[in-house]
Amino acid sequence: MAARIQSPNSINTYKQCPRKYYYQYILKIDRKIGSIHLQRGSIAHSVLEDFFTIDISNIHSDHYEFELKVILQNLLKQKWQNGKDEFAKLDLTEDQLLFYFEETKMMVNNWFNNFLKVLKPKIMVYGLKEGFNIVKPITEMHFISQAHQVQGFVDAIHEIDGKVSVMDYKTSKREKITEEYRLQLAIYALLYQEKYGKLPHLVGVDFLRHKPHYLEVDDELLRFAKRECKVIQENTISDDIDDYSIKEGVLCRYCDFYDICFGQKTIHDFEK
Ligand code: SF4
Repeated sequence: MAARIQSPNSINTYKQCPRKYYYQYILKIDRKIGSIHLQRGSIAHSVLEDFFTIDISNIHSDHYEFELKVILQNLLKQKWQNGKDEFAKLDLTEDQLLFYFEETKMMVNNWFNNFLKVLKPKIMVYGLKEGFNIVKPITEMHFISQAHQVQGFVDAIHEIDGKVSVMDYKTSKREKITEEYRLQLAIYALLYQEKYGKLPHLVGVDFLRHKPHYLEVDDELLRFAKRECKVIQENTISDDIDDYSIKEGVLCRYCDFYDICFGQKTIHDFEK
């Protein structure tokens, strides 16, 4: 069969458990179990994406911090409101939803404070409009590599003072670039290089609760990405379930396919 276009998520899923990969990416079983963490992560991403589409010429330079913060918070309120039908499916109390809203607001505000630390010096030199445009990233960019059969959606690409950094936003509590994140960032570096013919200087995770963390892009990181892209293609040629072993572990109880693996449901229960 033709090679599948993989992604950092699909590769990390395979590494976590081949059987999970099989259910998710070969059978494409619809994972009906939503989660507040997924939904609010998606809202936070969307807020930050839309924030950079604002018309900065409508902002007054004397109180730009206040105005930008109001815009950001209004975006969050609006998107949270738009998500209410999805929230209703989660069976959460009003108090729980309020807690998650406030926590998401805290993350977005924390991100904004970090953003201001980069923005302010530029405004002092170039003024509001030019300064904002200098630090404004390209957002939500889709990359696809036919050579490596992999794709990715990059949250933000900054080019400031000639230095390119390719960033992913995370809402996770832990402020650590794990092996999974490292793989994702390595693939982003590879995708960037293939599209632009040059390496980004840095790749990183912007931990919205904390601060951005970066990795230098070097040959070893690129080799790692290429190796993982090759290995996943070799390991996923088959469509036979028996070629995708069950890898039982502590994460099974959070897995959407737990009921299938442990006998309480069959694959057919998940069919549309
Ligand atoms: S429940 Fe465990 S063994 Fe089954 S697919 Fe999920 S991670 Fe793999």
